[in-house]
Amino acid sequence: MIDLLIIGGGPAGLTAAIYAARRGSSVKLFESVQLGGYMNATTVIENYPGFDKITGQDLSKKMASQVKALKVEVIEKEVMKLAKESGAFKVECADGSTHEGSAIIIGTGAEHRTLGTKGEKEFTGKGVSYCATCDGPLFSGKTTAIIGGGNTALTAALFLADICSRVYLVHRRNEFRAEAALVEQVKANEKIEIVFNSVPIEIKGDKFVNALSVANVESKEKKDIQVEGIFINVGVKPASELALGLGIELDEKGNVKVNLHDCSTSVPGAYAAGDVTGAFKQIVTATAQGALSATSAINYLKKKN
Ligand code: NAP
Repeated sequence: MIDLLIIGGGPAGLTAAIYAARRGSSVKLFESVQLGGYMNATTVIENYPGFDKITGQDLSKKMASQVKALKVEVIEKEVMKLAKESGAFKVECADGSTHEGSAIIIGTGAEHRTLGTKGEKEFTGKGVSYCATCDGPLFSGKTTAIIGGGNTALTAALFLADICSRVYLVHRRNEFRAEAALVEQVKANEKIEIVFNSVPIEIKGDKFVNALSVANVESKEKKDIQVEGIFINVGVKPASELALGLGIELDEKGNVKVNLHDCSTSVPGAYAAGDVTGAFKQIVTATAQGALSATSAINYLKKKN
């Protein structure tokens, strides 16, 4: 039985691991995809203190190597189920292995939302992607479109403008949700063509995508934009199924409900941090909650023992 189980290796989970290991706790951290989590999908980060500009992958690597230098056991397996039995938390992995700990931190983050547009499912992986950093280089010199008006969509547009011949940024309103600094850069970029007041109605293609059909929300006019790649960045939803399975209370949006003073959840000994809590979705918030949750979990263990 170890002290602390951390589910998720994004900025929240990695920071929790650093704080707990430095306090002398035994820690197992579970991440089946890539340490750094959703950060890896962010092209350039310009608002994490200490770095004027750093790629999401570089920041992920820095945090991961800090964790690996400590006595943290990183388990690269998919977690299928969480349970609490006789006061101990139990993690069941996809390969059938189980792990037990005295406290747990849920840092499972958020998942991208899909649009449900005709052709989206069919062409996913054949021109449709949800991650410009991961798949953008496949469209070097080609024409692409991004759907969305938030920070993710605008960051992706700037990244793709560097490698694609033309980038259409399709947004359903005539005003972006993204922060002003990004909007300014996007508007100044000649390779980006903004298509406001427009919603996607169909993704067309043969074997691969060749067009995005959009409709103007005011005039109802429809048009096809010839593109080879389509990046869908229409927001995220909390990845809270594992927490729910453990009996943790969620809010009406599916976020894990936490006490903001100590990141505790409705289950004693279970804490949550980062995007899964519905917090302000920033790396700095996730790291802050990671530190807080680890400290609270250690205090819980001290009281328990
Ligand atoms: P977001 O901020 O929720 O923006 C989603 C965008 O998609 C919005 O512009 C929304 O339009 C649009 N949208 C939603 N559903 C749609 C639909 N069915 N059809 C067409 N458009 C649709 O999501 P995000 O950009 O993925 O960001 C997620 C979170 O991570 C945010 O809190 C964001 O601030 C944070 N983040 C921050 C940074 C950074 O600080 N550099 C970078 C990446 C992400 P409306 O605007 O009309 O609602």
